[in-house]
Amino acid sequence: MDDLEQLYQEIILDHYKHPRNAELLAGDVVQADEENPMCGDRIQLSCQVKEGQIESVRYDVQGCAVSRASASMMSEALQGLPVEQARELIQSFIAAMRGEQELNPAWHEDLMALSGVRKFPLRVKCATLAWHGLAKALDKGAS
Ligand code: ZN
Repeated sequence: MDDLEQLYQEIILDHYKHPRNAELLAGDVVQADEENPMCGDRIQLSCQVKEGQIESVRYDVQGCAVSRASASMMSEALQGLPVEQARELIQSFIAAMRGEQELNPAWHEDLMALSGVRKFPLRVKCATLAWHGLAKALDKGAS
């Protein structure tokens, strides 16, 4: 393992052990569930949108380290963004995990730590679980 891979490993472990924003919101929020039966990961998302902007993203996730770390990173990366920008980032991130484009260092920096996941096709669904879930929640919020 080289230094960069080791650093990425540490970032993933840090989010796994100290998840950010891991609690569900109550009240006027949109919610969605998503699961990844291949691995047994499940997530419940709640998201608050005000005036076209994501005020907060919270979740309750059960699953492997990658799915949990990715949910934590997603909540930090998307909170505060305008909904349209968040949708673009979700799409780009999922495409990047599938190897269709590169991860962009201008996104939330911790996301780069997930770049190694692309080498493991089965893990890609773990890494994108929370992102698919939030996209669903945003779709609900728009209707
Ligand atoms: Zn998983």
